[in-house]
Amino acid sequence: MFDQRVYNFAPGPATLPEEVLKQAASEMLNWQGLGMGVMEVSHRGKAFMACYEEAVADLRELMNIPDSYAVLFLQGGAIGMNAAIPMNLMPLASKAPKADFIATGIWTEKSIKEAAKYGEAHIAASSQANGYTTIPDQKDWQLSDDAAYVHICSNETVGGLEFQDVPKVAKPLVADVSSNILSRVWDVNQFGVLFGGAQKNIGPAGLSILIVRKDLLGHAMPITPTIWDWAKQAESDSMLNTPPTFSVYLAGLVFKWLKRQGGVAAIEQKNIQKSNLLYECIDQSSLYVGKIDQRYRSRMNVTFYLQDEALNDAFVAGAAKQGLMNIKGHKSVGGMRASIYNAMPIEGVQALVDYMKEFERGQ
Ligand SMILES: *Cc1c(COP(=O)(O)O)cnc(C)c1O
Repeated sequence: MFDQRVYNFAPGPATLPEEVLKQAASEMLNWQGLGMGVMEVSHRGKAFMACYEEAVADLRELMNIPDSYAVLFLQGGAIGMNAAIPMNLMPLASKAPKADFIATGIWTEKSIKEAAKYGEAHIAASSQANGYTTIPDQKDWQLSDDAAYVHICSNETVGGLEFQDVPKVAKPLVADVSSNILSRVWDVNQFGVLFGGAQKNIGPAGLSILIVRKDLLGHAMPITPTIWDWAKQAESDSMLNTPPTFSVYLAGLVFKWLKRQGGVAAIEQKNIQKSNLLYECIDQSSLYVGKIDQRYRSRMNVTFYLQDEALNDAFVAGAAKQGLMNIKGHKSVGGMRASIYNAMPIEGVQALVDYMKEFERGQ
């Protein structure tokens, strides 16, 4: 039991900015003087529509999203998108429905499996043989001429593997950005589609974000469920069905918070600083070891192992005693993972580094 907030290194749902939670708490019962909370008002009413439009505008400003892209707030998470993307885009293939995939971990594996229900999911490159510890060199990608798009995961949340540059490809680039959206500056023009769940770096679960180049709208397969037909959603302000209003509201508060932090360029510098602190600690230690190719180490999910795995439980328990929570790695890869999204303060990362050094000295 804690009587104060801890440092929560969970991969998602993840820690949110304290200021944002405090504001939401203060407005919970009476939002904007309406005498009711944001969760209790009509999604089509004036107050919520303004809140929704402001959130979209702030996201556009933060990511510098051109007018030639639609921004949709949908549901079903990134996993839902794994189905919606092939349904909306595969018909653009020149022959049969088909897309290329760069397999870099668990999340692209899931995307491939789902897409294969709707057409050919061609694996153009894979680092599976290396245990997904690296990203295949682009010169070795076997891209197809007849694919509708190229799918990547910009940050593999489980492995802790991140593209440091946006690959240049001829076909529209589709990127699962669930776990590193808003953490680094991107040129949106380099993408056809950016998609992700909000619960890593934006807000509460329940909201999925889709940024799509407008010329890619309107090609959906006839079987596409109406709520996932992007053209139809774009025509109705993403409100074909009732949107997750509280998640949209809270995402909007996070966007305002991020603007107060100086925007994406400023938070990127902090993310570099935070991840460097942890990677330097790992590299200088003889107890901790990282397995990810140094060129592609994630700034958001720092994964590492204890040389002596028998110490894992003691390491996790000792951390929890100091209020450093949820640092155990995903069961599929083991080891440790510290997820340090935008909302994790540098003090939290420093506290973890101090603990890691203290634990190592104790061995
Ligand atoms: C968490 C995560 C997902 C799953 O998102 P849901 O919202 O649960 O569908 C997909 N891709 C990546 C990269 C993730 O980190």
